Amino acid sequence: MVKEYNPYDNFLETVEAAAKILGLEKSDYEAIKYPERELKVAIPVEMDNGTVKVFEGYRVQHSSTRGPCKGGIRFHPDADIDEVKALAAWMTFKCAVVNIPYGGGKGAVIVDPKELSRAELKRMTRRYTAMILPLIGPERDIPAPDINTDAEIMGWIMDTYSMFKGYTVPGVVTGKPVGIGGSVGRSEATGRGVMLITKEILHRMGTPVHNTTVAIQGAGKVGGVAARLLHKEGMKVIALSDVSGGVLNKKGLDIPKIMDFVDGGGLLKDYENGDFEYITNDELLTCDAYVLIPAAMENQINEALANDIKASIIVEGANGPTTVEADRILNARGAMVVPDILANAGGVVVSYFEWVQNIQSLTWDFDEVNRTLEKIMIRSFNEVWEKMHELKTTMRMGAYIVALDRLVDAKKIRGIFP
Ligand code: GLU
Repeated sequence: MVKEYNPYDNFLETVEAAAKILGLEKSDYEAIKYPERELKVAIPVEMDNGTVKVFEGYRVQHSSTRGPCKGGIRFHPDADIDEVKALAAWMTFKCAVVNIPYGGGKGAVIVDPKELSRAELKRMTRRYTAMILPLIGPERDIPAPDINTDAEIMGWIMDTYSMFKGYTVPGVVTGKPVGIGGSVGRSEATGRGVMLITKEILHRMGTPVHNTTVAIQGAGKVGGVAARLLHKEGMKVIALSDVSGGVLNKKGLDIPKIMDFVDGGGLLKDYENGDFEYITNDELLTCDAYVLIPAAMENQINEALANDIKASIIVEGANGPTTVEADRILNARGAMVVPDILANAGGVVVSYFEWVQNIQSLTWDFDEVNRTLEKIMIRSFNEVWEKMHELKTTMRMGAYIVALDRLVDAKKIRGIFP
C-alpha cells in the first residue's frame, strides 16, 4: 500500500538518516526535529461584494540557530500545517547548505488567489501581515515570494509592516519590486541557480550541455526561467508543463516563443503555435529526457511513479518534489538526484543579497549579483559533491550532512538556554 504522504515525516526521516551517517548523539540534533514556533492565524477579509470571508494562515519558524528565520509565503488552496512545517525546515537546511546566515521559516494562507480580485488579495495580504507581525522583522524572520506570491505582494507586506513601525523597513521582506529596495536579479534567481546547478552536474557526469535533453515541470518563476536559461545554454528542452498540462517535442521546443506566451498570461493547454504534442503531467515526468527538472509542487515523484521515470539526472527545482520512497527507487536504479536544498537555493541566496543591500542602504548591480550567486552555488555544489564521495552516499545525503553538521555545530557553540 502507498503510505499517506506527510512532508514533515519525509523531512524527519531524511534528518535521521543523515544523523546516523554523521554518527550524532540523539541530543545533538533532537531540537532540530521540532519547529521553534508555529503560529496559526484567522484572516477576515471584506470581499468586493461587502461580505466577509475568513481565511486560515500560518507562519512557522523552524530554526533561528544560524540567524533570522528566512523563507517564503505561499497562497494555495491545499496548504496545510504539515506542509508549512516541512517547507520551513527545508529552508533551515537550504540556508545551511549554502552557508548563508539564516535559519528557516515559511508561511502560507489557504486560498486560491485566482478566485480573489487583486483588491481582495491586497486586503488579505495586509491583514495576514498584521496577524503575523509579532513574528516578522529584519532581525527575526524575513518572508519572500513562493508559490502564487510575487514582488507586488512583497511590496504590500513591506508597506504594511512599515505602517505599523512608523518608518520604512525594506529589510522585512525580500523579493520586493526593485523600486522599493528589491534586488536586481532576484526574480529570476531561483531559475538561474537551477541552470547553474544543472550545468555543473552535467559537467561532473561528463555529459555535454549542448543538445542534451531536458524536461521541465512548471513554467513559472523557477521552471520558466530555468527553461529560458537552459535553452540559451544550448540544452534541448523537449517538454514543459504548467498547471493546465504540458507540451512535448522530441526535437526540442521553441522555448523563447512558448515562454513569451506563458509570461503574457497564457496557459499551455491553449498554446497552438508550432510543432509539438500535448501531454499530461505524468507523461512529462516519465518522458524520455536525460535530465528532469520538477519545478512545481512537493510530492510529484512518488512511489507510484518513480519506477517509470526514465531521466538519468533529476534536478529538484521545487521544494520536496521527490518522496523518500521514490528517492530510494531512483537511487537504486542509479539515477543522480540533485536535492532541492541545493538545486533551488539560488532564490534565497539572492534574497540574502537583497537583505544585505537593505540593511546597508546600498545597491548592487546585475553583474555583482549574478557573479556572487554563481560563486556561492558552485562552492556549495563542490562541498556537497565532496561529502557525497567521502561518505559514499547520495547527493541528498551529502547535502543534508553538510547542513546538519553546520547546524549542530552552531547549536553546540550557542548551547541550550537557560
Ligand atoms: N520561497 C523560496 C524558497 O523556497 C525563496 C525563499 C526566500 O527567498 O526567502 O527557497
